[in-house]
Amino acid sequence: MGTSPAPRWSHAVVTGGAGFVGSHLCSALLAAGTAVTCVDDFSTGRRANIADLTGREGFTLYEADVSRPFGIDRPPDLVLHLASPASPADYLRLPVHTLETGSLGTRNALELAHSTGARFVLASTSEVYGDPHEHPQNERYWGNVNPIGPRSVYDEAKRFGEALTMAHASALGTDAAIVRLFNTYGPRMRGYDGRAVPTFIRQALTGAPLTVTGDGLQTRSLCYVDDTVAGILAMAAHGMRGPVNIGNPDELTMLELARRIIALTGSASEISFIERPTDDPAVRCPDITLAKDKLQWEPQVAAEEGLRRTIDWFRAHGDS
Ligand code: NAD
Repeated sequence: MGTSPAPRWSHAVVTGGAGFVGSHLCSALLAAGTAVTCVDDFSTGRRANIADLTGREGFTLYEADVSRPFGIDRPPDLVLHLASPASPADYLRLPVHTLETGSLGTRNALELAHSTGARFVLASTSEVYGDPHEHPQNERYWGNVNPIGPRSVYDEAKRFGEALTMAHASALGTDAAIVRLFNTYGPRMRGYDGRAVPTFIRQALTGAPLTVTGDGLQTRSLCYVDDTVAGILAMAAHGMRGPVNIGNPDELTMLELARRIIALTGSASEISFIERPTDDPAVRCPDITLAKDKLQWEPQVAAEEGLRRTIDWFRAHGDS
């Protein structure tokens, strides 16, 4: 019988590990033999997301707000910094918390990595591109962000987090990197978190009208969560600093997304149009040339398949 390969990391700290993306990341790391400490304050995460990990060998939950200095008993060799509200409904409800998490929280996570010599990866966002004037967006584009608009608490927190990460890497030698995640979807999203995929699925499964904002012609590019997790881990394993876009360039309009979800669920729901939020980006599509060339990463899960898996999960778990 052959032996399993040694895990690449012995101990990873995942901030925001009880959230949607973070919990999938914790599972993937544990499955690869890496011990995981999940640091989360449950401001937007759920205990249910990590229920199957709690009590498993190698998994530790540390309930803490990363905006306050925190220590970890066992030094990590990898710090994945995902803590931050991510859905507009959450960060508009928690504006100061979002800014503190993106600034003080990123500083604390970077200091943990610096003091232990761990590799650090910041989960930044395509929102740093704001309402973009370049399409698709590559990493050299500086973005078009309203610094005082309602979305600024998230966008500017992430932009500050990126600047801090770069400063730590260049001035202090921290082995730090940035991934810019584009819209990710999959099991464990919350039905009421305000993002399009869970909202449409919840509405379709209950026969409610699917509420498309504006004329529905604004676009997003949706990446299935397993692909996003693989992209983050590919960046962690690589020595580069980035930033690197991680997303699926398969761009579709929100109206098209609503129609696909109606078809896949077999729902009788209709589509209704509601007001579009302030500063909502008109287009969003990643240029992933860099991720393909340097990380040998590209998405594997087509929208049809990813949506089907997500719908199955919502059918089994409800829309809490
Ligand atoms: P999520 O809200 O499900 O998860 C965020 C987690 O961070 C939650 O468990 C929350 O409790 C925790 N958290 C928030 N503030 C904290 C704090 N101060 N201290 C400790 N824990 C804290 O969101 P998500 O969709 O899983 O997003 C995860 C990360 O990925 C975020 O940083 C987000 O900005 C980034 N991102 C996500 C997407 C996406 O489409 N899901 C896209 C771009 C970037």
